[in-house]
Amino acid sequence: MSHFETVIGLEVHVELGTKTKIFCDCAVEFGAAPNTHVCPVCLGSPGALPVLNEDALKLAIRASLALHCTVSQQSKFDRKNYFYPDSPKAYQISQYDEPVGEHGYIEITVQGEKKRIGITRVHLEEDAGKLTHSPFGNASLVDLNRVGIPLIEIVSEPDIRTAEEARLYLEELKSIMQFCGISECKMEEGSLRCDANISLRPVGQEALGTKTEIKNMNSFRNVQRGLEYEEQRQTKLLLRGEDIVQETMRFQEETGVTVAMRSKEDAHDYRYFPEPDLPRIYLSAEYIEERRAEIPELPAARRKRFIEEYGLPAYDAEVLTATRVLSEYFDGTASRVRDPKIASNWIMGDLLAYVKANSLEIEQIKVSPEQLAALIGLIDEGTISSKMAKDVLKTMLESGKDAKSVIAEQGLVQISDEGELREIAARVIAANPKSVEDFKAGKEKAIGSLVGQMMKETKGKANPQLVNQIILDLISR
Ligand SMILES: [Zn+2]
Repeated sequence: MSHFETVIGLEVHVELGTKTKIFCDCAVEFGAAPNTHVCPVCLGSPGALPVLNEDALKLAIRASLALHCTVSQQSKFDRKNYFYPDSPKAYQISQYDEPVGEHGYIEITVQGEKKRIGITRVHLEEDAGKLTHSPFGNASLVDLNRVGIPLIEIVSEPDIRTAEEARLYLEELKSIMQFCGISECKMEEGSLRCDANISLRPVGQEALGTKTEIKNMNSFRNVQRGLEYEEQRQTKLLLRGEDIVQETMRFQEETGVTVAMRSKEDAHDYRYFPEPDLPRIYLSAEYIEERRAEIPELPAARRKRFIEEYGLPAYDAEVLTATRVLSEYFDGTASRVRDPKIASNWIMGDLLAYVKANSLEIEQIKVSPEQLAALIGLIDEGTISSKMAKDVLKTMLESGKDAKSVIAEQGLVQISDEGELREIAARVIAANPKSVEDFKAGKEKAIGSLVGQMMKETKGKANPQLVNQIILDLISR
């Protein structure tokens, strides 16, 4: 067994969902042609002055409050100085010693136990540009569209102990950000990016060991894989009595290993100083409270409510709160049906399968919660069987039509007329004397073949419960 304890801290950059950039009016648009959303402010031209976008500030405050941080009534911007080809000003406007939010936490559930991961700070800053290495030879291309996109950086305390906890923290963070409308958090588009610090120390030791930093992991799975690899690598070195070198690593997705990018020797001293072109931020207590009022029911509270109010199993509550839209879809359906668990089954089953198979988002599907609830109601009252409902739902998803019209158009109404079913049953029994004999000889399964014949005769429209009863009644005489 390992004699070491792993200590992980995460730094997450979240792109704020504003329409324009943080210090100018340039549009924020993913995938636009390179260098089409730039102006003197984002290009860092001499004399161009930044003006703070209030929407970015509002979202940063909302995010801080949703993460249980204290929002101070005063904060300021600072210049973080460094030269890099994708940063034309040679400094980044960020926040140093007076961030928007401090001292918060996120609660995760690790193997059934609740655990709090502290949040050191939430600060506002601007994004840098993007470098692409030219396929035509020894050159780099720079796209400055991303310069000045508003970000918040969320820095955790070193409270995370395993790679799995790191993934759980990130998932919870992402869903809080989405629920609060702060960001779409699309990792593949870079709107949520994660750097991780990891070190090991002997169990019982207070002082932290030497850490390495893994940069820019692009999926939650890779964060977990990268940290697991780095944990093993450091353990091996320490067991051999070797030192850990403090360095920045990159996780290689293809090989599953981390590789060194640069060592601490060329780490920069950023020479922070207060940004002279932007005034200090003063917030009234009311302004902060208005932001607090913008926070909706958060995912953890919603999961709890789904379990308590609708009697859902914890697993269902987890799946159905994966995104705000999905949780609202379930809420809208469950509140209109007799048994919310049935609504959960339909959504987690057929509906999500359809969404996945067609690469859609829940918000794009053509069936509203009202329409799904109406379909479930029709199963409940015996108009159609669950089996028929599967086909009906498929047609509804493709056409957007109501269950009733689909059923009428396809002549799918379930046969629940007892007289009619008894007539068909009598015919089926007369035609299958062998099955009846088998049943009477004690082979109870023989009834299944009679039921099967009935369903065949009615093209699947017979009410299955009723069919069972009738056949049993007729052949037990
Ligand atoms: Zn601009």
